[in-house]
Amino acid sequence: MTGSSHQDLLQQGTDFFASEFGIQPAGLWSAPGRVNIIGEHTDYNDGFAFPIAIDKRTVVAARCRTDRTLRVASSAYPGVVETSLDGLDPGSLTGWSAYPLGVVWALAQAAPAAAFTGVDLALSSDVPAGAGLSSSAAVECSVALALNELWNLGLGRPELARIGQLAENVVVGAPTGIMDQSASLLGKPDHGILLDCRTLQTESVALGFRDAGLGLLVIDTRTSHSHADGGYASRRRSCEQGARVLGVKALRDLDGIDLPRAAKLLDQQTFRRVRHIVTENQRVLDTVAALRTAGPSATGPFLSASHVSMRDDFEISTPELDLAVSSAQDLGALGARMTGGGFGGAAIALVRDGDADTVAAGIAREFFRAGFTAPHIFPVSASAGARREQWPSS
Ligand code: ADP
Ligand code: MG
Repeated sequence: MTGSSHQDLLQQGTDFFASEFGIQPAGLWSAPGRVNIIGEHTDYNDGFAFPIAIDKRTVVAARCRTDRTLRVASSAYPGVVETSLDGLDPGSLTGWSAYPLGVVWALAQAAPAAAFTGVDLALSSDVPAGAGLSSSAAVECSVALALNELWNLGLGRPELARIGQLAENVVVGAPTGIMDQSASLLGKPDHGILLDCRTLQTESVALGFRDAGLGLLVIDTRTSHSHADGGYASRRRSCEQGARVLGVKALRDLDGIDLPRAAKLLDQQTFRRVRHIVTENQRVLDTVAALRTAGPSATGPFLSASHVSMRDDFEISTPELDLAVSSAQDLGALGARMTGGGFGGAAIALVRDGDADTVAAGIAREFFRAGFTAPHIFPVSASAGARREQWPSS
């Protein structure tokens, strides 16, 4: 995001809070969406993922109250949702407010002895929702960081990531892993985050995209996806079944050498699901190794191989995502893949800076020819994770 549009978002966040609640906020916090460079559906298999925080953010303007009332507003939805700290029940929270209020509930579980007060929260965002860029984690992490500070909870970022995940799993009811929140909280400019989803250890890895004259394009196909619904849950079940039959705690414990045995023991479909996870974990490690030894352009083939695996083995791609990827490759992208949970959402393409416009225009042309909804195509760059913001005027 350019400096000025980020400043605009901060100003908008401040103004929005003031117009909803009739008072100035005590502070502004923000958290970014994320793009996963590689490592899809590996998080709940105790595996590896390599996301970046992107230059699109959700800003929360917040202020403590003197009573126990909670009020949340979002510039993306009409109305103010009001409840009380004493009436927070995961089962009763629905709609968009389940994300911020779910975080309040999860913080109360994590720090039961803390002295909570009511709070007013106003969300403004330029992370597109439902596009696979994890607008949900941007909401959760901005709110978690704000409340951690306002309530003096002293929780560290890895704990806040787990709070966001808990809110999403229990309150929203989406059985997602820890990747999105980790990226949103731990991102750094021009760095990816190598995440070991078993140990929850993370490592920042320099991308070197800027120096190499490379960039990432996001192709949002504007087709819908929902993690809460069947496809995601059934993939998760297949992975659990595969691990059970193969006698391992999680698919993370397998590598390529185990695949022939897996092929004998598993039905065809479960085997392909398992093969995706096993090969994808290896591709994450190969991508990071390529970045360190050969430079960013060497990562392209791993991205493209990841897409094939998701399309054919994990079967979570769609015609729109396949077309985005194949046209990007035909137009000179170094690598391309769908990103996020699948069943719609976005693809990414690694492109030379000078090719970005041609690739974007070419993909749009192919979508038009195919009769698909016009995609939104925009560059993203690896950016800073969640942070407290300075006042727009300062
Ligand atoms: P993704 O995380 O890929 O964007 P999800 O389905 O996981 O998609 O999360 C999208 C949901 O998160 C939205 O439907 C909405 O409920 C919530 N959300 C995202 N951004 C905002 C926002 N700015 N204000 C309020 N709720 C939001
Ligand atoms: Mg999400």
